[in-house]
Order: sequence, then C-alpha cells, then structure tokens
Amino acid sequence: MDPLPVVRMPIPTPFAVGDVNVYVLRAEPLTIIDTGTATIDAENALKLAFAREGLFLEALRRIVVTHAHPDHYGLAPRLVELSGAEVLVGEGEIEKVRSGAMWWELGRVLVEAGMPYEVLMEMAARAPEARRMHPRLEGAGALAEGDRIEFEGFSLEVGMFPGHTGGHICLYESGSGTLFAGDTLLPAITPNPILEPDPEAPGGRRRSLVQYLESLARLEAMDLQIVYPGHGEPISDPPALLRSYRRHHVRRADRIASMLDAGGKTAFQIATQMYPDRGLADRFLAVSETLAHLDVLIDAGRAQAVPSGGVILFRRPG
Ligand SMILES: [Zn+2]
Repeated sequence: MDPLPVVRMPIPTPFAVGDVNVYVLRAEPLTIIDTGTATIDAENALKLAFAREGLFLEALRRIVVTHAHPDHYGLAPRLVELSGAEVLVGEGEIEKVRSGAMWWELGRVLVEAGMPYEVLMEMAARAPEARRMHPRLEGAGALAEGDRIEFEGFSLEVGMFPGHTGGHICLYESGSGTLFAGDTLLPAITPNPILEPDPEAPGGRRRSLVQYLESLARLEAMDLQIVYPGHGEPISDPPALLRSYRRHHVRRADRIASMLDAGGKTAFQIATQMYPDRGLADRFLAVSETLAHLDVLIDAGRAQAVPSGGVILFRRPG
C-alpha cells in the first residue's frame, strides 16, 4: 500500500522534551493525532502549520489522543471549541482527561519513595501552573483494543501499549506497516515509564516498566516499517530501535542492582545517586524510573522491598 497521507507538525512545548509532534491525516474525515499543549504558542504554531498546508483548524473533524499527558492532549478543549471536532481517547486514559488529573498526584507513593518534604512542597507550589497544563476535557469518546478509526481508503487499528502511561494507545496500519507510537517509541531517548497511581490499588502505583517491557515484546512481534513518534523524526528502522531499548533496560537494571546494599535505600536515594544535580521535574522522573526498574529487579529476585518507618527500603536479597 502507498504511504499514508501524513503530515508531521512539530509544535513547541514549555517542557524539557522540546517539540511535540502533531500528525495530520490528510484524508476524510480530517484528523489529527495528539494536539500540543494548552498554550497560545502551541495554538499559533498549529494554526500556522495548518495554513502552510492550506488547511484551517476549523475544518478539523477528529482528534485522537495517544495518552493523557499535557503535551499530547492539552490543546484538545480549545480545538474542539474552534472546530467542533470529535475527540477519541484510549479507555484507560479517559478518566485522566475528564478530571484533568495530574500524573504527580501520588502523595503516599512519593512519601514511601523517600521523596524529601521540601521536594514535595516544591511540587505542590507548582501545582497551579501544572493545573493549567491539564485542562479538563469533557465528552471524549473511548477507544478500546482492536477498534478501527476509519478513513476514506484506509483505517487505523487501536492497540493498547501500556508503559509510558497506563492507558497509552498506538495506532497501526498493517498494509504499510505504519505505527503512530505516541511516547511508546522515541528516536533519541528511551521513554520514561511514568509513576502513576493504580486505579485498581488505592494508594498504590502502576508497575510501569513491567507493563512497558510487555508492550515492547508485542512491538517486536509486529511488522513495523515506519514509526511516527510523539517527539522527534520518524523512525525508519524500528527493529534496530527496539534492540537498543532492550540493551538500555538491561544496562540500567544492572546499574541499579549494583547500587543496592544489605541495609537498604529509598528509591529517592538510589535515584539521586544515579542522577545527582537534577532539577525538580527531573527528580520526579528519576524516582519514577528507579521505582520502575526496582519492580523488574524484584520480579527477577535481584532486589527486596522492605517497609520501614513510613518509607520503603530496597535492598540486595540476603
Ligand atoms: Zn510526550
């Protein structure tokens, strides 16, 4: 099959990751995948990118969201206001966009991870700004595994690929081996399995890297010719990227295992040892990644978790 009628539009974000990709499918009905952030800069950039294609935001008919992070869905309410477009979100993410829930609202999990009080306070101080970036989105439709998003001449199949977030979806066109991967596969960096509350375990958290490694196994079994990621250039050799992810995760797990001792350390201590001198957002991501790897090490019998005085200590099995 011919390549899909895709236009990539990199849109600026206020985050360290840089631009986020909005993909326009120039087919009927006119559809975008992901939106950019809820900022004037993003709206103007998208308007301009549309104009360059001879398109108008008002003509948009459908918005598909890969996951409920602010760079991927934040502009959706504004775009709906302009165009009346239908919004579709994976069923595992829909409650997050409805409530505008923030991914760092994790009180107990962060305390147990040993996050110091002043870091928690610093995070709380940023909550109003973060809140603006997580607008509530009402009336979105839910997408489930195997659903088809129909276009004139082709369709995209919805797949659940939890990991980066718990309800992350990717969109696949099997005739051309095309995958819209959101933040499940990225060209320059390994996606961070983000700490998230687990809706099924109140006060608990999702086993994000365990889920992500399962998603990677599923991707390895697919025929992928071209991957359109949530950030950066299209990926023309997906199998090579998947192999490099595997190597990265093995190395990182070995490194964390080597930091464990018999006495035990909190996830925050391990994260700080691994990434000294990190800023606030990065400290959260570092703890997130460390906990995610510790889950995998525990499953492999290479680490133990011991509750101790309100925190959880991770130690070498004795
Ligand atoms: Zn992203």
